Amino acid sequence: MSPPPSLTPVQAGERIGQMVLRTQLHNLRLQAFVDEYETLAQEAARAHWSHEKYLATLTSREVDRRTHNQRQRRIKEARFPFRKELADFDFDAIPHLNQLRVLELARGRYLQQAEPVILLGAPGLGKTHLAIALGLAACREGHRTRFYTVTGLINDLQQAQNQQRLPHFIDQALRHKLIILDELGYIPFSTTGAQLLFQFCSALHERVAILITTNLPFGDWVQIFGDERLTTGLLDRITYRAHILEFVGDSYRFRQAQAATVHPASTADDARQANALSP
Ligand code: ADP
Ligand code: MG
Repeated sequence: MSPPPSLTPVQAGERIGQMVLRTQLHNLRLQAFVDEYETLAQEAARAHWSHEKYLATLTSREVDRRTHNQRQRRIKEARFPFRKELADFDFDAIPHLNQLRVLELARGRYLQQAEPVILLGAPGLGKTHLAIALGLAACREGHRTRFYTVTGLINDLQQAQNQQRLPHFIDQALRHKLIILDELGYIPFSTTGAQLLFQFCSALHERVAILITTNLPFGDWVQIFGDERLTTGLLDRITYRAHILEFVGDSYRFRQAQAATVHPASTADDARQANALSP
């Protein structure tokens, strides 16, 4: 085996320079610079780019990467139970729902104004699907978002209170742009649970957008909150300037299953079409 060719002093100097550069870029957390500066420098030399163009291209790669990482982080921190996309939502299956209003919400202006959104209707009509899809849209715009089931939130609030860190919990919530509360009304809560939820929603009112999905018409909320005054107070806050979308119809899955039996279809799309054709 022949010994490795020794470097000339100039080559050795260049090698050290490269190592220092990599370390410094790394310390500055410019990971796209670290990964791409060499290949991009070769491309720049071939195409006779100006120094400014080289630097600008490298910088925009860094910005793109950070934006991408931030979106991924936002989605992870939101703790969605699963991914549901707007693109996979079949609006034809629920003609009562105003598609334009949903698409407008996905653009996220309500987030800037901290306006509440209420998705109201019977189970199986896609409320959770749309809540997650809107949450994902918010994350992709870089907004801090958090998904809770109402029961999960009440447990967390209760725990925070027991550990004397309720103010801290609420402060953390206030750092978000959107808080999703899924499934209000499925399980009645204790008096303390109702009070904590009321306190939480009051603190966020006009500061953080709250998106609630529920199967309960407003008139029935007192049944699960148990207290008339508290319910009126809560409704007052969360319906003020709210976007209320009503979901009317039969369960999407149930209809799909029915369509599959009546018109055995080979794909979900066929099933959807068959569904749309059935009276
Ligand atoms: P809800 O929260 O109203 O009870 P879900 O959002 O949980 O309903 O919907 C139940 C299932 O049916 C989910 O898998 C959801 O993705 C699907 N689904 C409901 N409505 C639609 C729709 N219009 N288009 C596509 N999938 C739908
Ligand atoms: Mg649901």
